[in-house]
Amino acid sequence: MNKKLGFVCLLWAIVLISFAQAPAKKAIYIIMDGIPTDIIHRASTPNLDRIIRDGGVFLNSHVGGIRGDYRETPTISANGYAILVTGTWANKNNVWDNSLTAPNYNYPSMFKLYKDAYPDGKIGIFSTWLDNRTKLLGEGLPQTGGIKFDYHFDGLEVDTKNYPHDSKSNYIKRIDAEVAMAAAKCVYKDGPDLSWGYLQYTDDVGHHHGDSPELFNSITFQDALVGLIYDSVKQREEEFGEEWLIVAVTDHGRTPITARHHGGQSDNERNTWMVMNKKDINQYALNYRTAGVDLLPTICGFLDVDIPAETQYELDGISVLKEVDAFGLKASLNGGKFLELSWDVIDKEKDIQAEVLESFTNNIKEGGKDPYQKIADVNVKEGKASIPVKLPKNLGFLKVVLKTPNNTLNYWIQK
Ligand SMILES: [Zn+2]
Repeated sequence: MNKKLGFVCLLWAIVLISFAQAPAKKAIYIIMDGIPTDIIHRASTPNLDRIIRDGGVFLNSHVGGIRGDYRETPTISANGYAILVTGTWANKNNVWDNSLTAPNYNYPSMFKLYKDAYPDGKIGIFSTWLDNRTKLLGEGLPQTGGIKFDYHFDGLEVDTKNYPHDSKSNYIKRIDAEVAMAAAKCVYKDGPDLSWGYLQYTDDVGHHHGDSPELFNSITFQDALVGLIYDSVKQREEEFGEEWLIVAVTDHGRTPITARHHGGQSDNERNTWMVMNKKDINQYALNYRTAGVDLLPTICGFLDVDIPAETQYELDGISVLKEVDAFGLKASLNGGKFLELSWDVIDKEKDIQAEVLESFTNNIKEGGKDPYQKIADVNVKEGKASIPVKLPKNLGFLKVVLKTPNNTLNYWIQK
């Protein structure tokens, strides 16, 4: 090859490489514990406002599962975290209270999915509660494939010598500040690909004082801590040309009027919110109340994490950013001969073909596989279907999956 041709080839190679390299995508979500939707609107939150003003969005959301059916989930803290991190309700993730006695790791966390997809990617957790890493995410356990966090800062609350516990939870306030500073530092210095910040003080103050000036002050305090992390995110974007998704989210609301408690199914306890630095949300998030279970598909979608089909078939949430086709699948058996399905349609004008799958087992719960078979093709815009079915004699369990081009929905029928 002559010199001139070689030079031209080199130039082209540089041009092609620079076009091929999209900015590195990274994500962090921060749980601000137990801040009801009506109260976050009344509180002074200049940093959440700043995220929205910079091109973000405030989304109404909910936890608590589907009220009155098999997915109903207590509005308790650890349940809230489990919902966010696994994209499933308590009937699957098996977190029913804060004791985390037996989380079902067969419904993998977004961290497990991320590490499976990108073994060299870096994950981080910065948390006022040690159990989030060791129990909920199951660090080092065989059931999670021994997942290991590349960066963590947590466990200060068990160090009662340096952080003596007081009845006003001032030690939690101090720990939240240290956790947020560690998160901000790590985000700026190391730029983990996926991380979780957890701040607790607001929930403690809610329990102590309810709807009160103290609660409002604690929210403003915590908002400043989120601001520290957001500053690091902005710095990374500027200096390293990365694209970040930052989400501030709460894990549950609080009881009506007093705002002192939570755990039940009132609207005030179920209704939650998300603030994220992206406003290009999809038609679902634009027009409907989103759900805590949507966080995993949203973050995994943003980070281009390839989710295995068997996990996708179990997800109870859908992305709020990527295109989706349908949500809210319901199923029932009509006389044992027909499967009656209904779902909510995103675009009622568009012809989109979807598949209906069925499985009579729930082996995934124990770590096994469920054999699915296709029983029908449906047009999504119809919003319903009546499908003739052949059921086994002693039907114990029927899992239905609606698989559209852009997302999947599932529903259990249990005898
Ligand atoms: Zn909580």
